[in-house]
Amino acid sequence: MTTPADRLSPVYTGLPLTIFERMSGLARESGAINLGQGFPDDPPPQALSDAAVRAFSTRSQQYPPMTGLPELRDAVAAFYAREQGLDLARDHVVVTSGATEAVACAILAVVRPGDEVIVFSPAYDVYAPMVRRAGATPVFVPLAPPLWCYDEARIRAALTPRTRAMIVNDPLNPAGTVASDDDLAMLARIACEHDLVAICDEVWETVRFDGRRHRSLLAEPGMESRAIKIGSAGKIFGATGWKVGWLIGAPEMAAVLAKAHQFLTFTTPPMLQWAVAEGLADPAIPRALHERWSASRLALLNGLFEADFAVTANAATWFACIDLAATGIALDDATFAERLVREAGVATIPVSALWEGDAAPTHVVRLCHCKPLATIEEAVGRLARWREGLGHG
Ligand code: GLN
Repeated sequence: MTTPADRLSPVYTGLPLTIFERMSGLARESGAINLGQGFPDDPPPQALSDAAVRAFSTRSQQYPPMTGLPELRDAVAAFYAREQGLDLARDHVVVTSGATEAVACAILAVVRPGDEVIVFSPAYDVYAPMVRRAGATPVFVPLAPPLWCYDEARIRAALTPRTRAMIVNDPLNPAGTVASDDDLAMLARIACEHDLVAICDEVWETVRFDGRRHRSLLAEPGMESRAIKIGSAGKIFGATGWKVGWLIGAPEMAAVLAKAHQFLTFTTPPMLQWAVAEGLADPAIPRALHERWSASRLALLNGLFEADFAVTANAATWFACIDLAATGIALDDATFAERLVREAGVATIPVSALWEGDAAPTHVVRLCHCKPLATIEEAVGRLARWREGLGHG
């Protein structure tokens, strides 16, 4: 019998709840510490909230210009000039309601029915359903743990005359790794040789702990006219609920991307745009957040090392991953995560949930570190005690 849901797109009816929602739900139900879904527990910087409150009382709350407040588009361009040496102007920037909307706009604007899109596994969960909904096929190319390196031969083997785009998430969620300079050059070469668009999800660009400044794929030779760079104020300012993001591309491309945006959300709350523009202009704000997250990252890594957990290399993002196999835990990641949240009161993300295609690694779980130090200490203590219990059956 046909159910009401059968009348809807199989792209969505066949999908489970996202792993982030699921683990946060379990954490709420059981009162667990939530190191699953990535968000800071602390409020965003006071200066940012103050700027938003000020904008509420002094600025218009009606539709702002569709492509974003000119002041924010200028601020985004200036931010990237200062932070990454990129030469951008207002016309390169389209403001969106979060990076997820920016990803949707990019895919909808780039991809045609029947196209193929290279997606690297592990992949943020938004990409593949959106590619499918656009009538195209995601073609998964695995990154190999523990370092999650790009494999040029595998990428080239996945290309067909129908390949239209690649989605590159750098730094990489969930692993927290960063593409090497050689990787970026190689990806750019392939994009140019095969006339591909690169959709560059770079929302973790400011959350790097390797002391290096972020290099955008957009800055590689030949990419200026074929890269769409995506950024997020939520990540820069630790304000995930704000949902202010942007698309960056050559002005001719940005003008078309704006047409996808105009029929998805049309505009983004202007009060938040004003505040983000102020925040981007003050380098002290991201610097203070970076210090806070460096400390929380070290607390998690040190705690896990001391408790003898094997942690995979991570140079960026709010995440660190435990290698269960190398730790001597013989559970798969999904079982580990389900049991840990119920039995130990700590929510994590099993990385296999972000994997499609062959040979999903099932021995890696992701933990979010941007939490108060006491929370991290308590979570690591729970993990260590629970693991001891595992040993005794
Ligand atoms: N970006 C968040 C993470 O990786 C998840 C956001 C969401 O729940 N969709 O944890």
